[in-house]
Amino acid sequence: MLKEQALYVLAQLEENGYEAFFVGGCVRDWLLKRPVHDIDICTNAQPCDIMRIFPDHIPTGLQHGTVSVKHDGAIFEVTTYRAEAAYSDHRRPDEVRFVSDLREDLARRDFTINAMAMDRHGRLSDPFSGQTDLLSGLVRTVGSAQERFTEDALRLLRAARFAAQLQFDLDSKTEQALADCADLLRHIAPERVRVELCKLIGSDYPWHGVAIINRAELLRVYPELDQLFKLAAPYMHRVRKLTSLAEKWALLLYASGATNEAALSLVALLRMSNRERDKIALLLHIVTEMRPSWDESESIGWEHALLRYGPETCVEANHLLQAIWWEQDEATDSHSQSVIDTYERLPVKSLKELAVTGKDLLTATDKTAGPWIAHTLQHLLEQVALYHKPNTPEWLLAEGRKEVERY
Ligand code: ATP
Ligand code: MG
Repeated sequence: MLKEQALYVLAQLEENGYEAFFVGGCVRDWLLKRPVHDIDICTNAQPCDIMRIFPDHIPTGLQHGTVSVKHDGAIFEVTTYRAEAAYSDHRRPDEVRFVSDLREDLARRDFTINAMAMDRHGRLSDPFSGQTDLLSGLVRTVGSAQERFTEDALRLLRAARFAAQLQFDLDSKTEQALADCADLLRHIAPERVRVELCKLIGSDYPWHGVAIINRAELLRVYPELDQLFKLAAPYMHRVRKLTSLAEKWALLLYASGATNEAALSLVALLRMSNRERDKIALLLHIVTEMRPSWDESESIGWEHALLRYGPETCVEANHLLQAIWWEQDEATDSHSQSVIDTYERLPVKSLKELAVTGKDLLTATDKTAGPWIAHTLQHLLEQVALYHKPNTPEWLLAEGRKEVERY
């Protein structure tokens, strides 16, 4: 479907007298028969021509020659052929120059497998033998690896990430240059490092990508991350069993033996959002709370956790615990179902369901309002939910008075 809409865009450009090709990741993934999630198009039309031909557009990155073209509910990035001049900051070219030759455009791309174009009849332009590398399962830079990594150090991480997504090896010169140029990663914004590492950890072969990173000592400018990936390497096969990225990061942090504070400072280092950070912190906290402890009273059970953190978070925590304990043959879904069943069986699940309110407690105790109310209500909720005490005003008010005394 997506491809049909993109074919229309190519045809329109051609009808207006321009060249137009599918390019980059979509060509690679079609040839590999992998799912394609976005389609990029390159053309010798200038941005102003593209905008004229497609009135329904967004001028996404005109200075780089990119216009987003909308057609039939889909959106495609259409980019003018370009070459890139010197990179003085090891990340962005100092200037881009529009060119008229497709080959020049392909030559600025990072890896041979990403430097192929395909016309609308399926004919391939592959001046750097990307197809051969696809067949041999190799990530190889277009031209000198050392030069390409020095121009843009993000490519170092992209190499490991593509290797992890495709289960490819790096060709030997590319791998050597990865080790030689690793220090250049200090020029890359931590957010970008995070994006690539998240793609790598979320890929189908994360252990493969991490082995490449560790061999090259690629993360040496981030000593904490470098340690994390080395210590967590034996756990990398388990990462794939997990679903969310928060679970995956939490497993790595747990496996590396990081204390909760150390884990959080690592997460901050990568500029994760507060939401992501809180989720990872909560998962690590639950896992620590649920770890069987010598002192029974220090560890909590599922019912307790479900009441405190809710079923969704507990299902995630359950995945994480399974990965830690490596129950590899167990079906994850049946485990999740039993956590959900346990939740369903709780006689009450929230304060709203209690037969008394904070107001009732105030009246019954003659005390002035304060944090004791929330504390007492939570205590009562646990008594009813976990110890099956009666959910009646009489019992709850009597127990409430006792708890207030103890508070
Ligand atoms: P995916 O979208 O699946 O992550 P992709 O190959 O489409 O993979 P994008 O980041 O979307 O990757 O980039 C699109 C294309 O742009 C790439 O295939 C590559 O040709 C080129 N490209 C992207 N980033 C760089 C870079 N840092 N250096 C050189 N070329 C790049
Ligand atoms: Mg892409």
